[in-house]
Amino acid sequence: MNPTNNLTTSTSNDMITEEPRAPHVPRLTRRLTGFLPQEIKSIDTIIPLQSRKTWSKHQVKKFGDNDGFEQRFIGHVETTLGRSLYNCDDLAAYEATSLSVRDNLIIDWNSTQQRITARDPKRVYYLSLEFLMGRALDNALINMDVEKSNGKGSENSRGLVKDSLDQLGFRLEDVLQKEPDAALGNGGLGRLAACFVDSMATQDIPAWGYGLRYEYGIFAQKIIDGYQVETPDYWLKYGDPWEIERTEIQVPVTFYGYVERQNGDTTTLSPSEWIGGERVLAMAYDFPVPGYKTSTVNNLRLWKAKPTTEFDFAKFNSGDYKNSVDQQQRAESITAVLYPNDNFNQGKELRLKQQYFWCAASLHDIIRRFKKSQKPWSEFPDQVAIQLNDTHPTLAVVELQRVLVDLEKLDWHKAWDIVTKTFAYTNHTVMQEALEKWPVGLFGRLLPRHLEIIYDINWFFLQSVEKKFPKDLGLLGRVSIIEEASPERQIRMAYLAIVGSHKVNGVAELHSELIKTTIFQDFVRVYGEKKFTNVTNGITPRRWLKQANPKLAGLIAEAINDPEETFLLDMSKLTALTKVSDDPVFQEKWDKVKAANKLQLADLIKAGNDGVDIIDRDHIKNTLFDIQVKRIHEYKRQQMNIFGVIYRYLAMKKMLKDGASIEEVAKKYPRKASIFGGKSAPGYYMAKLVIKLVNAVAEVVNNDKEIQDLLKVVFIADYNVSKAEIIIPASDLSEHISTAGTEASGTSNMKFVMNGGLIIGTVDGANVEITREIGEDNIFLFGNLSENVDELRYNHRFQKVDLPTELDIVLKYIESGKFCTDNPNEFKPLTDSIKHHGDYYLVSDDFESYTATQELVDEVYHGQKQQWLKKSIESVANVGFFSSDRCIDEYSETIWNVEPVKPEE
Ligand SMILES: *Cc1c(COP(=O)(O)O)cnc(C)c1O
Repeated sequence: MNPTNNLTTSTSNDMITEEPRAPHVPRLTRRLTGFLPQEIKSIDTIIPLQSRKTWSKHQVKKFGDNDGFEQRFIGHVETTLGRSLYNCDDLAAYEATSLSVRDNLIIDWNSTQQRITARDPKRVYYLSLEFLMGRALDNALINMDVEKSNGKGSENSRGLVKDSLDQLGFRLEDVLQKEPDAALGNGGLGRLAACFVDSMATQDIPAWGYGLRYEYGIFAQKIIDGYQVETPDYWLKYGDPWEIERTEIQVPVTFYGYVERQNGDTTTLSPSEWIGGERVLAMAYDFPVPGYKTSTVNNLRLWKAKPTTEFDFAKFNSGDYKNSVDQQQRAESITAVLYPNDNFNQGKELRLKQQYFWCAASLHDIIRRFKKSQKPWSEFPDQVAIQLNDTHPTLAVVELQRVLVDLEKLDWHKAWDIVTKTFAYTNHTVMQEALEKWPVGLFGRLLPRHLEIIYDINWFFLQSVEKKFPKDLGLLGRVSIIEEASPERQIRMAYLAIVGSHKVNGVAELHSELIKTTIFQDFVRVYGEKKFTNVTNGITPRRWLKQANPKLAGLIAEAINDPEETFLLDMSKLTALTKVSDDPVFQEKWDKVKAANKLQLADLIKAGNDGVDIIDRDHIKNTLFDIQVKRIHEYKRQQMNIFGVIYRYLAMKKMLKDGASIEEVAKKYPRKASIFGGKSAPGYYMAKLVIKLVNAVAEVVNNDKEIQDLLKVVFIADYNVSKAEIIIPASDLSEHISTAGTEASGTSNMKFVMNGGLIIGTVDGANVEITREIGEDNIFLFGNLSENVDELRYNHRFQKVDLPTELDIVLKYIESGKFCTDNPNEFKPLTDSIKHHGDYYLVSDDFESYTATQELVDEVYHGQKQQWLKKSIESVANVGFFSSDRCIDEYSETIWNVEPVKPEE
């Protein structure tokens, strides 16, 4: 068809055949904006009673045995995928398996949603710009129970599917490997959201997650010549069998434009009309979230940006057809890519667009669901709890106020009361560079009405502060949501989130205390202590114990006589392990599981090293695996770790030079593999330099014949969730060594402990509570405390501080160019930041106690292996507190006020 000919006469429904939009005809525009009178079809469309009878006759059934699974599998291969069994590779088998498993989940998803609609309880909405889900299939197989066909209870569906795939000629392990990670997050914050949706489903909490469906997740990391190179993560290349495209759910979202007020209404507090400029559609994609040992399947709804079907006839008529189409296509760029910064605020306009797009679509969806129950607005906070995962979704606060005032015509103060009762805010950092701020100019252009509303929120807030603390202008300036900064005013999103919420929580006890005494101290004066609370982070034991470490889960089940593995739902049951922590026979079994996991990691490392082994497999049981995997960041201090490795290497070399035998060296510095992994933000120069240094050290150390394989250094490329599942179970020791007061919680510390690894760490984040739970004899703590950090930093700035000898040796060696190939000064920025730029992360202050503690670690691991194993077992016995199930209990009780909706028996 010739598009040009067609367009001149078309009345195709792809194009809205209204008159052209223009600023002087706002009435027409209104029909197309925001909250249209036209209702979008709901997920549970009413079906006439008559036809329901016919429906129930043909009820879709879940597969419950091998036959049932195989039928589904073959059906999906031959019809959904349109392939034959003779032409079915592992990828197709993965897709067909996933689709078959998904069928079961969708059936439970449907009954879960119907049950919740019928009972209409208070619901939780977890708003997170990141969901670092990892793989879905193995997790679904573990979480999904299949009713046994003989009616005798249920069994884990993993075994069933494994057997069936065997029959069909596939290995489950190979099929699982075909799934790409859903890596829609940077690190801890995104993984926390993923653990939380797992726990909410497991606990039958009526909860939905809302986020964005990025076409590109966090970049894949390649290491080329020791440098990080980012490559795009187009995870949807083969489509995603787990997503359900909701073409019927499309929400219009508006940007730019201007504000108009009705005749006579001159104040910004009265209902105003936002005449939007650019318009896009948010289309929903749903991902089923199965709970463990429950038929509850919750929903994760992710939005994709699409062009509207409107067509700019004005532009077309002026002969600019191509431009009017181009502009439409730009809509999709909103959800194209995840911003790859961890703990850093970049302030880009497209990021703000992402945030508003997501908040507007999610709120529209939440409000539509609320309106179905026909309750008055005053009951909204009794029906809806919205949790803000960091400040990224804070615009939802403003958007709800806009909907209530401008569209629903509620009085400002009544509206604001509803808003603040609905939202709660989780803070994730005290670091200034990570706190979100938006210049009012940029913000006001994109969201003119929202800027007015923020000014009004701030006006009333500051009035209430002035009333409580009269004439304290300093205080007013400090707590104002608008920062009077030059060259431009900025909106402080954390302050807006506090003012718009009824509860603010930190993510570990130390962090929750710190926010009260530092960045939010004025708000504690204004609101009182009670608004500020703590919910220490947690992780799901289903993924991080059962899925990642099936051998250990099996051994635990045997040891505590819990063959059904109910400890995965009640981790306090693990305390029964204390009884056997001293038993040499059990210790030996424990050690064997660890050794098997270390072999798996050795395979992963080998695969990443062109098939050449770095780890000596013959000595794997007495090689200490010392692991630091997490985002690369100066505050996490991977630089201190690698300096420690260099120190060890130089000390070994010195012993040899002074005439010691290799046996003597091995006695002081026994076998160790120092393993690193993690991504740097693409624009983070210092972090990238640390990656290069680790790889440069690895090159030298691993090829030094003199030290005879006693020390190995490895950088594992492209750290992600599925690699974490292999790496973490293999650790003897893991490093959580952030400058005290900088790591809000950390969650990988919990994952490592849950897998029987010991920790070397600073008194920071959740390390504090880990110590309390597992006992201070079972963790290697070192370094300065957070209360001393200010003074230490002050000393670096204003006094001359001598470097400790060990560190001086290391830095001089680096500066001698021994790790450099081309540029002998390559690592100078790293050494300079310590020597000449104030050592902001206090490496020099903690280095001696770090290396001393590392020597203690060696002594215990190599000299007192039984003690080590006992520590390991006792740690696991007492790790129960860090299950994300406990977090969800605390949020439910103290913040959300929601209750489970249990499936009928
Ligand atoms: C748990 C996890 C993190 C968070 O690690 P921290 O050490 O707590 O910063 C980051 N990335 C991945 C892939 C994880 O699984």
